[in-house]
Formats: sequence, C-alpha cells, structure tokens
Amino acid sequence: MLLFLSTVCYHHFMNVTVVGTGFVGVVSAAVFSKFGNIVYALDIDKSKINQLQKGKVPFYEPNLEDLIQKGIKDKNLHFTTSYETAIKNADVIIIAVGTPSAPDGQADLKYVFAASKSLAPYIKSGVIIGIKSTVPPGTNEQVSNIIKSKTKVKFATASLPEFLKEGSAVNDSINADRVVIGATEQLVINTLLKLHRPLKGKKIIVTPESAQMAKYAANAYLAQRITFINQIANLCDRTGADVNQVTEVIGADRRIGSHYWYPGLGYGGSCFPKDVRELAAYSKAVSEGDGLFVKIDDLNEKRLPKLIKRFESKVGGWQGKKVAVLGLSFKPNTDDMREAPSLKVISILKKAGATISAYDPISIPAAKKILKGITYTKTPYEALEKADVAILLVEWDQLISLDPHKVKAAMKGNVFIDTRNQYDPQEFKQLGLIYIGVGRS
Ligand code: NAD
Repeated sequence: MLLFLSTVCYHHFMNVTVVGTGFVGVVSAAVFSKFGNIVYALDIDKSKINQLQKGKVPFYEPNLEDLIQKGIKDKNLHFTTSYETAIKNADVIIIAVGTPSAPDGQADLKYVFAASKSLAPYIKSGVIIGIKSTVPPGTNEQVSNIIKSKTKVKFATASLPEFLKEGSAVNDSINADRVVIGATEQLVINTLLKLHRPLKGKKIIVTPESAQMAKYAANAYLAQRITFINQIANLCDRTGADVNQVTEVIGADRRIGSHYWYPGLGYGGSCFPKDVRELAAYSKAVSEGDGLFVKIDDLNEKRLPKLIKRFESKVGGWQGKKVAVLGLSFKPNTDDMREAPSLKVISILKKAGATISAYDPISIPAAKKILKGITYTKTPYEALEKADVAILLVEWDQLISLDPHKVKAAMKGNVFIDTRNQYDPQEFKQLGLIYIGVGRS
C-alpha cells in the first residue's frame, strides 16, 4: 500500500534541472525541490557547487539556506558540475545563467549560448528548455538553433522570466504576483503549468517574445518610477516641498498607487541598471528610438555624484572628515553589492579625503572583498563614534530604528544625511543635528 501511494505521489513530480546556480538559479532549484520534484542544479563554478553541496548558500537571502538543506536531506536536491549527470533525465531544464550587458549595452548572451551547447548532447527526447535568464525576444530561436546543431533529439524551448526580488526571493517565488509562461505549444504549456501549479499567483500564458519583453518592461518601468520621483525630489529641494508628503498625495490616486516610491541616490543592483541599458540598446538595434531608456539610465548615473556634491557643500568639504556610512548592500535584506550606491559613495568620499567607518548588518563579508581601506564596525553606533558626518544609505531594519540621542552622543560632528528619508527631520533638528534628506530640505 505504501509503495502504491508513493508511486502515485511521485507520478506528478518531474525531473528538473537548473543551469546556473547564481542568485536566481539557487532560488528556483530550492523552490522546485520544495514541491517534491527531483532537482539537479548545475554550475561550471566548482567552488560554488562545493559549498552548495554542503548546504551553504554563497550569498545572503532570507529562508533560502533552510530550504536548500531540507532539499539535500530529502535527497531531491542535488548540486553538480557534470552536464551529463544533470541533464540526462531532465524533463524540464531551466537556464538561469548570467546575462551581463555587452559593451554596446545589449544583453551578452555568451553564457546562455555556452550552456545550450554544453547541455545539448545529453538531453532526452521531449525535454522542455525554459530560459529564465533575462534575454531579449528572439533568443529562444538562437538557443534552438544551437541545440539542433548538436543533436537530433526532439525538444521544445520556452521563456520563463523571473520576477523575484532579492531580499524576499523565496517568498516572491512561492507567492508570486504572477507566474509567466512564454510558450506556444499546448503540450509544453501543460507541462509547465503542472510544474508551476504549487506556486501561488496568476499563471499568465503568453508567447516567448511577450514574456521576454514583459520582463524588460517591468524592470524599466520600476526604474523609471524611481527616476521620476528623484526628479520630483530635486524640485522639492528647490521649492521647500517634502517629497515624502508629495508621494503620499499622489499615491492616494489609485491610478498611481502608494507603493514603490523610493527617492534617494538612484537605483542600483544587479538588474535595473543593466536591464534599462539593454532595453535602450535593443530599442536602438530595432530602430525604435531609445530616448526614454537612455535618459533614465543617464539621469540615474549622474544622480549620485550630483547629490554627493550637494551634500559636500552642506558638510563644508569632505577633506579630513570622518564619515560613518550606514548600510552597504544595494538594498536591505541582501548582501548583493552589484551596483550598490555605497561603492560609488565611498569611492568619491575617499578620493575627496574623507576616512570611512562603515556598518552593515549582513553585507560586511561581501563588501570586504571589494571595498578596501575603510574601517568596518560591529554596530552602527561604533561606526558613528567620533564621526563628523553620518550618511544612511540602506534602510535595513537595524538602521531605520536608531536612537537620535545615541546618534548625537556618539558623533563628533552634527551632520546626518538620510538618503532614504527614514527619519523625522524635526526630531534631529531639535537635538541640534543638521538633518539632510532627499527632496525634503
Ligand atoms: P549570477 O551572476 O548570480 O549567476 C549566474 C551563474 O551562472 C553563475 O554561478 C555562473 O557560474 C553560472 N554560469 C555561467 N555560465 C555557465 C554555464 N555555461 N553553465 C553553467 N553555469 C554557468 O546571476 P543571477 O543574478 O542569478 O541572474 C541570472 C539571470 O537571471 C540573469 O539573466 C539576470 O538578469 C536574471 N534575473 C536576475 C534577478 C536577480 O534578482 N538577481 C532577478 C530576475 C532575473
């Protein structure tokens, strides 16, 4: 009876292989294994795979390590560097390798193509190859051609764009706003629907081209929303308006919405900067005019140095100043340092003659690999000790609940720059601190 039951249960599960164990690949592998599939996760990076085999996730992401360890213990999650081992039994292969920007701004697809070449000899008939990496429309055909040149075995391709957010990736995958399946053949759609059925969220079936365009469109929209409110913040600085109040007012309009207003030093991270540039380059390549996307990228690039200059005049120059940098990752709840504002801020301040003490609750090990010549501290107040200036860069929980009295007591100087607009300016001012926000001075 037991045997019968387990046969019945397992009947629905699939052999899933994820190619690329970066951020997206590890999350996908963990989530698909959680729902009972047999998952192989493959990477060419041996040291990454060694760590993952031991249940160690090489980056910080809430709830992910537990899920990985459970998958390994239950024997339905395996990590390997062998294409043959990973691919030969796969019903669905998910390509999740990196797609950095090429020098001309377009997505560099060399890892996607290399992975396609490597997996082709081992695929079994009927396998579905879903591309989860962010790629432009037309990529599926190129991948198909590469695989066809290596094997006669029948296969299908699909687009499975990823919409998770770093910092809440596991929850975003399981309780997705939507699951997008870009495919046209009914059999392929049915299999992918079956695989994604346990995930909450609306399943949207579209063509691969629409799926890929939607991924770029979503990120470009969010990036332009940040750029838009930053432009409004600049105007607030000129007029005495407070951008936090402005977002409250405009957000009450249901057509606009109150979420996702983040005035500050501009967007960073592994996705927005690259995806906006890729969309600009793609627009240009198809002769559609790249004005909007180029402008978003340009405004965002120029923003941080411009604001640091503005702060400089209020601080009275950075030369010889001790600056406490609060927060290092590109946003809270991740230790991802890719295009983190802290990198540029610290570089500018150091060049201008400041010394830096920095605190971040999680990202110090990741930061230490790239940010040298600064002091890292164990607490925010230790970073603030005898600082002339404090600059809050990331709204970690630990950094938005500082006690202004303790801040004042720790610091030598009195300038508190709040690039995330988290604190009440009046409270700081009453203590004799100079509070500098973004779009609310
Ligand atoms: P990443 O750089 O963290 O990881 C990519 C992994 O692919 C690396 O571990 C690398 O060793 C591996 N790899 C490269 N070539 C390989 C090959 N031939 N065979 C096997 N493995 C190979 O990238 P990421 O942040 O996980 O992003 C992956 C893709 O997903 C990108 O296209 C990205 O744009 C997209 N995406 C990322 C996010 C995010 O939040 N990070 C969100 C949505 C979409």
